[in-house]
Amino acid sequence: MFGLWQKEQTNEPTRDTRTNGVFTHGNAHLIDLKDVVKVYKTAAGDFTALRGINLQVDSGEFVAVIGKSGSGKSTLINMITGIDRPTSGQVFIGDTAVHTLNEGQMAQWRGRNMGIVFQFFQLLPTLTVIENVMLPMDFCNMFNRKERIERAMHLLELVDIAEQAHKLPTAISGGQQQRAAIARALANDPPIIVADEPTGNLDSRTSSQIFQLFDDLVAKENKTILMVTHDDDQARRVSRTVILADGEIANEYMARALPFLPQNKLAEATRRARHVHVNPGQVVVEEGSSSDNFYIITSGEVHVYLKQPEGSDLFVEKLGVGQYFGEIGLLRNQRRSATVRADRYMEAELVALSRKDFEELIASEASARAAIEETAEVREESQAKAREKYNLPGADGSED
Ligand code: ADP
Ligand code: MG
Repeated sequence: MFGLWQKEQTNEPTRDTRTNGVFTHGNAHLIDLKDVVKVYKTAAGDFTALRGINLQVDSGEFVAVIGKSGSGKSTLINMITGIDRPTSGQVFIGDTAVHTLNEGQMAQWRGRNMGIVFQFFQLLPTLTVIENVMLPMDFCNMFNRKERIERAMHLLELVDIAEQAHKLPTAISGGQQQRAAIARALANDPPIIVADEPTGNLDSRTSSQIFQLFDDLVAKENKTILMVTHDDDQARRVSRTVILADGEIANEYMARALPFLPQNKLAEATRRARHVHVNPGQVVVEEGSSSDNFYIITSGEVHVYLKQPEGSDLFVEKLGVGQYFGEIGLLRNQRRSATVRADRYMEAELVALSRKDFEELIASEASARAAIEETAEVREESQAKAREKYNLPGADGSED
């Protein structure tokens, strides 16, 4: 639909303009936040709202940002839109180093590249709906007067409120106001739409219609969307969920490895997890040693082996990103049943939960316990088969 009025622009918005896979600053992702820290100065002292955020979003992703109130969602969004600046760290969007722009550059850049939607719509009350939609085009000088009217009308048709075009915002419903705000966000055809709890002030039926509209923008209009939401159903329907907990991103791999965990438990587990770097070929757990941690792979891969009497290792299986290991020893309270080692040529990154944290996690979540138990059983069975086939001694007995 937008193709109708694709226009020559003097300052083309951020598209996927990568050469050799990278944008100007060497970033390979459309949105690339590096070690972003935000400290607010308050009367009571400094408050760190973001603690070193690293976040990459690719073109065409629909990302939900979730997390409890005060976790830093709006602060994070404001770093991406350039509404506020990081205390330290970098924000790259396409070819633009957003954190380096001055106020004037920032306003122009934002006007062309970011469609921003707020919880309380923030339409100008004295302008009609169509005038509100035309405002960003006026500001960025994007189209001539006649084109602006046509385009605004098309956008209002797209969001299904063309018949309200000449009314004031107060004369239409909340859902219609949010539709108008979305049309306004689309005015300059920005590649990225950022929405901070856009359905937070709407009833559930209207919310789901607005959500559908965002979903269509990703699917049909090739937009990249970041949306803060409190709605778990919405968060489940997007392509990716970023969980914020106390200014940090709850490890997404934790969510992938343990999809049955509710959000608060994921955030909790993330807070407690320790990052472990593993060199190529390095042993992470050794058969027969005592069982301490539960591990999730966040980068690279690991290989599982059984010890053979003559000393060589028998390969059992390969595990990759988003998979976990170490559960058998912890669940059965026994020594390690197998050896796990990083790939010989590739380093791996893991997150580790201590035995105590792992036990608390599965004690509080029956579904988590059941799912991990099921994985353990399958693995135990395949290890037992391998032991039988190759005539290996049984796994070591219980932990002493
Ligand atoms: P969320 O959107 O997840 O509810 P925010 O990003 O708005 O969270 O806020 C994160 C934390 O930073 C909160 O504790 C909030 O009180 C604090 N905060 C936000 N904005 C400011 C500000 N301008 N000055 C001081 N503290 C702030
Ligand atoms: Mg907020």
